[in-house]
Amino acid sequence: MLTKITPHCHETALNGLYAITLPTPFPVGDVFAYLALGGGSAPLTLIDCGVRTDAARAALKEGLAACGVTFRDIERIILTHHHTDHIGLAGEIVAESGAQVLAHPLCVPWLDFPAAKRSTFDAYMLSIFREGGVPEDVIGGIERVSAYLGSFAEPVRVEDTLVEGDQIALLGRQWQVYHTPGHAGDLLCLYQPEARILLSSDHVLRAISSNPLLEPPESPEMPRPQRLLDYLRELQRIAQLDIHIAYPGHGEPVTQVPQLVEARLAMHAQRAEKLRALCAEQPRTLYQLVRAMFPHLREPEMFLAISEVLGHLDLLVRDGKAFTDLREGVAFWHAA
Ligand SMILES: [Zn+2]
Repeated sequence: MLTKITPHCHETALNGLYAITLPTPFPVGDVFAYLALGGGSAPLTLIDCGVRTDAARAALKEGLAACGVTFRDIERIILTHHHTDHIGLAGEIVAESGAQVLAHPLCVPWLDFPAAKRSTFDAYMLSIFREGGVPEDVIGGIERVSAYLGSFAEPVRVEDTLVEGDQIALLGRQWQVYHTPGHAGDLLCLYQPEARILLSSDHVLRAISSNPLLEPPESPEMPRPQRLLDYLRELQRIAQLDIHIAYPGHGEPVTQVPQLVEARLAMHAQRAEKLRALCAEQPRTLYQLVRAMFPHLREPEMFLAISEVLGHLDLLVRDGKAFTDLREGVAFWHAA
């Protein structure tokens, strides 16, 4: 399903669509950028573009060169979501090529004003962590990781937005835009119905479950987004599509999307049940639950773990299986 042309460039099942592997300094490992060659009225397009490091830049240039493409030739960049490993080199490519950048509206502030967006993000998370009983030294560690991620961000202007139901021309075919919040609130998948190909970004990954990460609401008066609930709903929606191959942001392509979705749903139900049992033993804080679920966490994984456990607690609340009481600003979770 992926045939290696050079160390970083692979052919996909669709003529003119190439997968370029780029290293990241993060635990997730390599990330894919996809190159859709131009032709006819379709502009030469890069879908995602790796993290802003020397190693990723060199790999991207090498992968593009295998297809006879340089940064200057890129006419359009579609960013599937705002995470650093997918957007990092966008600014540099735009500076060289003048490429048009497209992303979901929720991604725009992360690209236009990354520093301001990250400080809103950090302030919001602080309130979640305090209510979750997370100790101050652990909060300090999460803030260090956030600052580290922020160091890769570089502003880039989004020229146009893509939303659910839009159509976009790639490789002389019409692709349908699916907005699939979950792993990130702004995550987009692109689907080509005749070729039955899905560019699934981090929504459908084969080897790892896409962690639905905590995010602030769009505006302060709105409730906290429940990203795991979004994610499970959007997984089921994508499983309805007729998909021959899904090309993800990380790891091997996926051919059996409905089976994978079923396995993910079962896994999340199981983890939620484990949390319910812990809350039934005694009421616990979010942080105590995180520690009980993941006793060997390292600093860079703490935010992922908190996001995941809070997601499963949202699932239990939705199903009437858990509730909280607030004691001096800290929420304790009970089994219903
Ligand atoms: Zn991501």
